[in-house]
Amino acid sequence: MKVRIAGLVNDSITDGSGLRLSVFSQGCPHFCRGCHNPATHDPGGGHETDVTAILAVLDANPLLDGITLTGGEPFFQVSPMAKLAEETQRRGFSVWTYTGYRWEELMEKIEKGNAGFAKLLKHTDVLVDGRYESKLRSLSLPFRGSSNQRLIDVARSLATGSVIEL
Ligand code: SF4
Repeated sequence: MKVRIAGLVNDSITDGSGLRLSVFSQGCPHFCRGCHNPATHDPGGGHETDVTAILAVLDANPLLDGITLTGGEPFFQVSPMAKLAEETQRRGFSVWTYTGYRWEELMEKIEKGNAGFAKLLKHTDVLVDGRYESKLRSLSLPFRGSSNQRLIDVARSLATGSVIEL
């Protein structure tokens, strides 16, 4: 399945716990002021690859703890990202997903029947949610840029129906 990405980082320690394969998806509709990665906004930028090619990178690195889907906006290309997340979990690795959507916005889309959003969320272990807010920027927060963003335990939040943060 084709997917457009800005790039991969094979040994990230800043995009989640442990050593991670970071997948920078291409295309973002949020346009946060002060965005750290504006080159990822253009849906036609980056380059096209295949989900199987990214999984081959994962399979080739025995030191990894999991994949981090970041961007850009992973939910912008939700079908290939959900497939990548599903296959990653099937291999026993964890999935972190960074999104500009708030958890509550994702719930609204899922309640309206957006199956792709539901699938990507279901195959995410930790969701880092919310737009980057430059006024709330903090260097002391682990794994996120601004204090409005939350590290959400997805499985427990889906099971209880309320946001449970790590
Ligand atoms: S969601 Fe992320 S990539 Fe998109 S504009 Fe905001 S900070 Fe940038």
